[in-house]
Amino acid sequence: MTITFYNTLSSKKEEFLPINPENVRMYVCGPTVYDRAHVGNARSAVVFDSLYRFLKEVFPKVTFARNFTDVDDKIINKHKQTGKPITEITEETIQWFHEDMDTLNVLRPDFEPRATETIPEMIELVKDLVDKGFAYEAEGHVLFDVTKFQGYGVLSKRSMEDMIEGARVEVAPYKKNPADFVLWKPSNEGEVGWDSPFGYGRPGWHLECSAMSKKYLGESFDIHGGGQDLIFPHHENEIAQSYCACGCDAKHHKYANYWVHNGMLMVDGKKMSKSLGNFYSIRDIINKYPGEVIRFFMLSTHYHQPLNFTFEGLDNAKTVMNKFYNALLNIKGEVKQEQAPSEFIEALSDDLNTPKAIAILHELFNNLNKEQSLEAKSKFVNSARVLGLLLQDAETWFKGDVDNEGEIVALIGERNDAKKNKDYKKADEIRAKLFEMGIIIEDTKEGVKWKKA
Ligand SMILES: [Zn+2]
Repeated sequence: MTITFYNTLSSKKEEFLPINPENVRMYVCGPTVYDRAHVGNARSAVVFDSLYRFLKEVFPKVTFARNFTDVDDKIINKHKQTGKPITEITEETIQWFHEDMDTLNVLRPDFEPRATETIPEMIELVKDLVDKGFAYEAEGHVLFDVTKFQGYGVLSKRSMEDMIEGARVEVAPYKKNPADFVLWKPSNEGEVGWDSPFGYGRPGWHLECSAMSKKYLGESFDIHGGGQDLIFPHHENEIAQSYCACGCDAKHHKYANYWVHNGMLMVDGKKMSKSLGNFYSIRDIINKYPGEVIRFFMLSTHYHQPLNFTFEGLDNAKTVMNKFYNALLNIKGEVKQEQAPSEFIEALSDDLNTPKAIAILHELFNNLNKEQSLEAKSKFVNSARVLGLLLQDAETWFKGDVDNEGEIVALIGERNDAKKNKDYKKADEIRAKLFEMGIIIEDTKEGVKWKKA
């Protein structure tokens, strides 16, 4: 079986040949933790979680690191606006992020390094770049001199002229070249910072990922992921720093061999933005739809394409998930974890083609309905599992994650009593009340059944 990925570095689909097939290593840029993550962040997390699950399915060991950027100007600004201590902001945001990820069935990576816990390694990396002549100090800053790296632009395919042109807005006077970027910046007294040979200060964002990936995955590793918006300048700058520090050259893939980027998320065909009023946090959507529905919807579009986020799309995804779970309800018997069918794995091997994998999932579903066998159920469930879907038991799915189950059961009891006393008006009122709470009830021979609307 051949596995391929579209590699942004070579601009083509390439066969995936890990450095060590016994241990595939992947790094993905994580969130800057100052506010709730938005649905665009959810897409990236779901895409790379699916890649992680797929790799775990076909390789004996996968090491996945995704960082938290917990020192950044955005966090400092939030602290200034709210007066909340920085650690309180970052801790709270990390907890929200974990809660959101759990709801979306996104597995925890093997490592979740925080930038503030990797400062000594970052200082070491800056020192190394200064010593090797790739970086220079100016007015308390340390800057990377882009003209010293022949391969600058190798990932984003931008020419030096383009990048200098692009960087021309508000060029700091201490920069040798407009495109030079910050490795270390000074912090004022009382501001968050660390002592370093370059003075009291804090790391630049790009530097953080170079240092954290090296610490947890080594100087060279297999896959580096992130959203397409990170290609320039973030990933371009990571490459510049890491190649120069390790003495690699751009022609021979070192640092990360495969650069995998997910497409952007649009809302109703438009860019998502607070000013357009179409900005949604993951929490906004999780409050309305089960996490698995959001996940299924997101995986229906190939990761490399833009994803058009619509509520209609989510409603359709919910209908399909209900159909899938309903099929599981009908066929009794536990499913054992087994390898997913080969045609399903092959679909994912082709540049993580999740739409194709989902098409196969539909075929397996049809087959299950036809055969009504435990074997067909096993194929269906074990395929969905690789996509992080159908992980709940079907009864729980239809009940939904309600936190007021006691109240619901009590109301159903009251309604039963009312019916016994022929107080149909009251029974109807209770039904209406439950409906308002988002609960649909159904009178069956076995008694009253209820589910989330
Ligand atoms: Zn990064």
